[in-house]
Amino acid sequence: MSDCLFCKIVNKEIPATIVYEDNYVVAFNDISPQAPKHVLVIPKKHIASFDHLTEEDNKEIIPYVFTAINKIAKDLDISEEGYRVVNNCGKMGGQTVGHIHFHLLGGRQLMWPPG
Ligand code: AMP
Ligand code: ZN
Repeated sequence: MSDCLFCKIVNKEIPATIVYEDNYVVAFNDISPQAPKHVLVIPKKHIASFDHLTEEDNKEIIPYVFTAINKIAKDLDISEEGYRVVNNCGKMGGQTVGHIHFHLLGGRQLMWPPG
């Protein structure tokens, strides 16, 4: 998707602080961090939202995304103290970028319920 912000990060057309990358996944620091540690973890494949995941995506891509999140949490040293993994889906879910992404947030006490 040539007009997708996160595809441009995947393709290194715009800069980001990349903290993890493999064949299927890229993770980078959120430009507007909501916690001391705030990383966005995305599949390289353009998928518009959580609601657009196919059965094939769930079998073949999402496992890599979740494996990456586990690894990054350890790398960021938030594994033991705890953290949050968030996906905002669609308008009512508060999604603002149309390429599926998982927020990994940690480094402070997170509150519940979300706003
Ligand atoms: P969401 O509201 O769940 O769609 O999250 C989109 C996230 O992308 C927000 O937390 C933004 O701060 C973040 N964001 C937007 N543009 C960039 C960018 N160029 N680099 C890194 N993060 C970004
Ligand atoms: Zn995209």
